[in-house]
Amino acid sequence: MLQPAKQMTVSFHAELYKLIPEDHQLRKIHEAIDFTFIHELVRSSYCEYYGRPANEPELLFRLLFLQVLHNLSDDRIIEEAQVNLAYKWFLGLNPEDKLPDPSQLSRFRNHRLGAGAVDEVLKSVVRQSIEKGLVKSKSIIIDSTHTLAASQNQKPLEVLRDAAKRLFRVVVKKHSRLEKKLPRLPELKKDQNDAEKIMLHYLAELGETVETLLPDHEGAISEKIKIAKIIVEDERLLANKGIMSAIDPDARFGWKSSTKSFFGYKEHIAMTEEEIITAVEVTGGSSDDGKQLKELLNQTLSAGIEVQEVIGDTAYSSKDNLAEMKSKKIQPVVPLNPVVHHGGLRQEGFEYNKDADFVICPAGQHSIRKAVQGSKQNGKSRSLVFYFDTDKCKTCLFREGCFKPGAKSKTYSIRIMAEHFKEQIEFENSDTFKERIRRRPIIEHKNAELKRYHGMTKAKYRGLFCMRMQAILTAFVVNAKRIVTLIEKMQPAS
Ligand code: SF4
Repeated sequence: MLQPAKQMTVSFHAELYKLIPEDHQLRKIHEAIDFTFIHELVRSSYCEYYGRPANEPELLFRLLFLQVLHNLSDDRIIEEAQVNLAYKWFLGLNPEDKLPDPSQLSRFRNHRLGAGAVDEVLKSVVRQSIEKGLVKSKSIIIDSTHTLAASQNQKPLEVLRDAAKRLFRVVVKKHSRLEKKLPRLPELKKDQNDAEKIMLHYLAELGETVETLLPDHEGAISEKIKIAKIIVEDERLLANKGIMSAIDPDARFGWKSSTKSFFGYKEHIAMTEEEIITAVEVTGGSSDDGKQLKELLNQTLSAGIEVQEVIGDTAYSSKDNLAEMKSKKIQPVVPLNPVVHHGGLRQEGFEYNKDADFVICPAGQHSIRKAVQGSKQNGKSRSLVFYFDTDKCKTCLFREGCFKPGAKSKTYSIRIMAEHFKEQIEFENSDTFKERIRRRPIIEHKNAELKRYHGMTKAKYRGLFCMRMQAILTAFVVNAKRIVTLIEKMQPAS
């Protein structure tokens, strides 16, 4: 039964807490942030009459907070918290108290917080910053950053072995009597040429054996069999990129620049000028940044922030985004990009990537160069022309209707329609715009903080839901740190 949080009984050993310095970071965070909101947030996920002790939600949420603050795994944070005096104090425990099992952390994330409540976690800390009078500006800065999928660095052989081991383990865990009936993992020599084929064959054999022995399999076993089948049934997956998609189906390939790609997720972030993150949206790595503006704006407004100005890069300059901001009386401080503000590409399947400044075609090839055509005097007839590699087009499976046999080039053109955006172009040339757009880089520092100190370089778990959870909890932690800094700045120097 979940009851209101109660005060712990202080033991004789709590005297030790006097050793924690008054200016310790956790003391400041405890002072500045109210964590009690979590009880109400997860109340409906607890049974009304039976269940966990009263203090569980706040204790587990504070553990998640410490975990993100110090970028530790579930096991490590429990190990550390058991012996770290400051952590124990922050958790509201006595020095001799035992910590919960690490498995309770994932249960709390997945079943207590879940998809619905996690958004409220961020809103809660944003509201606290407003109530403390820390947010004065009416501007938000938006940007995206990327996180590598947990499987990013795995080679095909490792992915195959991993999929086989996971399937084997889950079957043995649930049906230990079957262990002897399952085929054994093959022993491979170092640098064995056909290692991938042997492992692929083993995975197929293992999957078939499990299906024969357990025809009514369900839950985790079904999930692992499904992954094994995806890998086994499509040989193309042995190419590095495909096989990674099989084990993290929500992750996507995206581009950091014209030469660097990544496999993973994108976090789209909105932040006030005081550096309080007000909204987080998570998508696969291939998604278009501009399409997230509306959601970021809505999340920010519903957290109680008044928005009169949006500062962002060219990705947010689409016709729809400019209209959306205009309808909300918001000034867009976003440089126009002819490809983006044109309102999307004409031919389905072609996508513009602003980080790499190229167009990706339906076959996944990207343009290899770009040129501007038309007269400078007559802006109406100018076009941006993207060129594709015709050697690849000649053998492309999608060439029908896209590339004529014998053609010397394959291009994709976009008209530069300057006349439709006169008002925004005039604003872009003003001193106000030039001064305001200088504020944009501060969000890049925030992105660097998320990655360098709090583990956002790489996904900790697989799947969009877990990535979203990781991103929002991390935003909560960096906001809490920022609130402490802003409060200190407000205090008169002694
Ligand atoms: S024909 Fe060329 S441009 Fe068209 S889809 Fe194929 S590779 Fe891409």
